[in-house]
Amino acid sequence: MLMSSETGTVHRLGIMGGTFDPIHYGHLVTAEGARYELGLEKVIFIPAGRPPHKPGCNITEPWSRYVMTGLAIESNPFFLASAMEVERPGPSYTVDTVSAIQLLYPESELYFITGSDAVLEVLTWKNVLKLLSKCRFISVSRPGYNLDELHTRLDGIPWELKKNIIYMEVPSLAISSTEIRKRVREGRPIKYLLPESVEKYIIKNDLYRQ
Ligand code: ATP
Ligand code: MG
Repeated sequence: MLMSSETGTVHRLGIMGGTFDPIHYGHLVTAEGARYELGLEKVIFIPAGRPPHKPGCNITEPWSRYVMTGLAIESNPFFLASAMEVERPGPSYTVDTVSAIQLLYPESELYFITGSDAVLEVLTWKNVLKLLSKCRFISVSRPGYNLDELHTRLDGIPWELKKNIIYMEVPSLAISSTEIRKRVREGRPIKYLLPESVEKYIIKNDLYRQ
């Protein structure tokens, strides 16, 4: 984990959370789009250790997902990867992660980047009001998910927190980790859906074959 003393002061810091099983170009385009549009100095990718919303799912062990994340972001000087959720025992709640980042970067404004599918789920997240008071939420367009329902779902949220949700369009990539895992299982190509280094890691470590 890079500390603020190593980076100098970061005024605007993006956080990209996800299971990243595996990380793909949809994640990378989303983070890069948010970085550019919002003038973020860094974006930290934080693979979930044990995602609370995917219990019982057959998820690849956290360190492999962290390594794939590191490989994927290597060429972007604005991107970092953090193992904080991978190292933390128990379920990975975003509110705990954002609190930890606040301690590491006390002078930064935090922007939590999510696809529109995740923002629709936001009300089910632990301590959502606390979370929305700690960081802005960037809701990035994702093919197949529209936000018509969101306004109704956000009814219970006070206005001063609701305005912490910012909507943004990025180039649409209808890629998902689920589709990539399915393709590997079926022996279909995954080339051009994710960085080559990640594809090689998947092949070398025989991931997603069953
Ligand atoms: P899975 O199919 O296993 O759920 P996923 O492709 O949805 O994987 P996640 O790790 O669940 O990837 O997503 C992490 C974050 O990235 C979420 O906020 C999600 O909305 C966003 N995201 C994932 N894929 C895209 C995409 N193609 N375009 C925009 N946002 C995306
Ligand atoms: Mg998902």
